[in-house]
Amino acid sequence: MPDIANNIAYLKSQLPASVSLVAVSKTKPVSDIELAYNTGQRIFGENRVQELLNKKDLLPSDIEWHLIGHLQTNKVKYIVPFISMIQSVDSFKLLFSIDSEAQKINRVIDCLLQIHIAREETKFGFSMCDLSDFLQKEDVALMRNIRICGVMGMATFTSDTGQVKNEFAFLRKCFNSLKDSFFNESSDFRQISMGMSGDFELAIDEGSTMVRIGSLIFGER
Ligand SMILES: *Cc1c(COP(=O)(O)O)cnc(C)c1O
Repeated sequence: MPDIANNIAYLKSQLPASVSLVAVSKTKPVSDIELAYNTGQRIFGENRVQELLNKKDLLPSDIEWHLIGHLQTNKVKYIVPFISMIQSVDSFKLLFSIDSEAQKINRVIDCLLQIHIAREETKFGFSMCDLSDFLQKEDVALMRNIRICGVMGMATFTSDTGQVKNEFAFLRKCFNSLKDSFFNESSDFRQISMGMSGDFELAIDEGSTMVRIGSLIFGER
């Protein structure tokens, strides 16, 4: 049995104060989330809408839920009423859909643009070219019900730390370049969400502001 409270305390002692911790609770039971919650942890990440909906009604309402997995546009309406942040925005269609669903209920949703930085083909995310083209054409400031808060990325699953480090450095460069070109006036655009259980130290060295950690807290899935 992992000692959840102890794991969180240890992680917090390793993270700079400027880096926030998203406790990734996917596949784990509500009782595990309660143990983490009781240590003061408030930000939790889930990757599936149905699982998130099942869990959130059983847990305190001051939890800040972050969606970190691929989101289908037809499911946006189920999470906009309560979600704190959607980290996995990987298409323009999805961005428009979040804006329009949020408008219906008069909320503004914090979003991160997920950028494809890994070698694997399977990982979702924008390419930098697509993003720049789109942001040049569309004035996202006109989408009043989303707030673009930065970028998110997942490195290749590999033991080659040089490779992982390069991918994180690339994500930081993407952030800087988007900031300079499109979000210079926006104080909201400041998050670089990168780093998981196996690579969060490398991510922090490369400028992460938010780590998403599951197995180091809750044990293997
Ligand atoms: C599962 C998941 C994590 C956490 O993974 P661990 O290796 O268990 O820390 C982080 N980010 C995303 C997008 C995930 O799907």
